[in-house]
Amino acid sequence: MPELHADPSLILIVDDSVDTIRLLSGMLKDQCQILFATSGEKGIGLARLHQPALILLDVEMTGLNGYEVCAALKADPTTKDCAVIIVTAHTGMDSEIRALEAGAVDFITKPFNPPVVRARVQTHLRLQQHTAMMRQLANRDGLTGLYNRRCFDEALTQEFERHRRQSLPLALALIDIDHFKAYNDHYGHPQGDVCLQRVATAIETAARRPGELVARYGGEEFVTILPHCDAHDAKKFAERLCEVVRSLQLAHRTSETAELVTISVGVASLVPSVESTTLQLIALADQALYQAKAAGRNRATVSTRP
Ligand SMILES: [Mg+2]
Repeated sequence: MPELHADPSLILIVDDSVDTIRLLSGMLKDQCQILFATSGEKGIGLARLHQPALILLDVEMTGLNGYEVCAALKADPTTKDCAVIIVTAHTGMDSEIRALEAGAVDFITKPFNPPVVRARVQTHLRLQQHTAMMRQLANRDGLTGLYNRRCFDEALTQEFERHRRQSLPLALALIDIDHFKAYNDHYGHPQGDVCLQRVATAIETAARRPGELVARYGGEEFVTILPHCDAHDAKKFAERLCEVVRSLQLAHRTSETAELVTISVGVASLVPSVESTTLQLIALADQALYQAKAAGRNRATVSTRP
């Protein structure tokens, strides 16, 4: 999810020598949490699962070598933001260039100089924490505090890939405040902003399952990503959203639908296949939203297409 590095002090050591892992762990155990893997393949698996802030990656390994592992990590959206430090017995410009070209941020040579290893790890952990903080700020919508559109696009791409690998259904709920232009015209934009904030908070509070992400999609449109969710459960979730927004009891005197602020929700769910795209899922939810509006608003409609 957008908050990468659940534990910002988590590092992963990938080395086919258990002695080297022991040596590095001994140097670093006071400053970070450590995971380790004894092959490139296992390292990639652990990195995907835990998204460590930093990976110390041995170059000379049987199976995938360090450069290949690094390139694979950088090509995968779930691990591309993990910083990689290449560890090698080879010194010299060629090895350094190869490491940087593969996407590594730094380079440590064997035999180890413990203060140098500690200092480099510390520096990159700090940089990663700083980057995570900046990313967090860049991911938020200023008015509502929800994730913004750009962040939603990234998260949806990641979730789509993950659900494709797992052959599990992924659902979207597209949410629109009914007659919001009339609300703004009648109550004024400052009150309109308060309305957006109240509805945003209500939706965010309702989306509490792990991995559910709520974003501001456009002016008065919001969107929720619902992992591992079929159309039936997505519809139930969307109906609950309609209910929690009604129960805010925000007066809307110029609404043609009700005397309160209400929402319309379009939901769609699919198991991503090799051919399907995130745009298709969005289009299905958008069609369902259109149907919800055409049917009188203040309701949830599920896409009838597969
Ligand atoms: Mg080795």
